Amino acid sequence: MANPEYDYLFKLLLIGDSGVGKSSVLLRFADNSYSESFIATIGVDFKIKTIEVENKVIKLQIWDTAGQEKFRTITSSYYRGAHGIIIVYDVTNRESFDNVKNWINEITRYASENVNRLLVGNKSDLEGKKVVTYEEGKELADSLGINFIETSAKTASNVEQSFLRMAGEIKGRIASAGS
Ligand code: GDP
Ligand code: MG
Repeated sequence: MANPEYDYLFKLLLIGDSGVGKSSVLLRFADNSYSESFIATIGVDFKIKTIEVENKVIKLQIWDTAGQEKFRTITSSYYRGAHGIIIVYDVTNRESFDNVKNWINEITRYASENVNRLLVGNKSDLEGKKVVTYEEGKELADSLGINFIETSAKTASNVEQSFLRMAGEIKGRIASAGS
């Protein structure tokens, strides 16, 4: 039998309001690139990136909403089979933060019960325009019992860390479940 090229394959989703930087975060992580323009669609539904966590090779299949969130038509098929969901808001946009609770409700409705979740406040480079504080983000995440991190797709701050943290959490859950 041939050696598999990876130890784990995880399906991750990026959700959150339109314009918060989901596609930018994904492009930064998967291709280490960044664009100032609104990325309506990155042309594909998902991107693949292989990482290593504690000597295990983890293949991440990361799905982008490809603009569907503008029309609020994200449905059950997007959530099916997800191991982890990254909920993104924009630290310069209060409404995108207030809407996190709606995205959490969607996850509860459509995703599997034990799915790992991570709250991400993106655009941390825009310090002068920031309206949602780190403390507010942390408090919300704590109330949900999930981790929180602030990122910048523009400067690459904490982007890789977000995905590594998510992958590590899922790996821990799956390893302890013995499957
Ligand atoms: P999406 O609709 O959530 O996929 O958002 P996009 O990735 O298309 O980004 C929307 C806009 O925000 C684009 O103009 C991006 O260049 C910009 N943007 C995304 N991430 C950042 C960031 O970390 N910092 C700054 N300053 N702008 C960002
Ligand atoms: Mg997008």
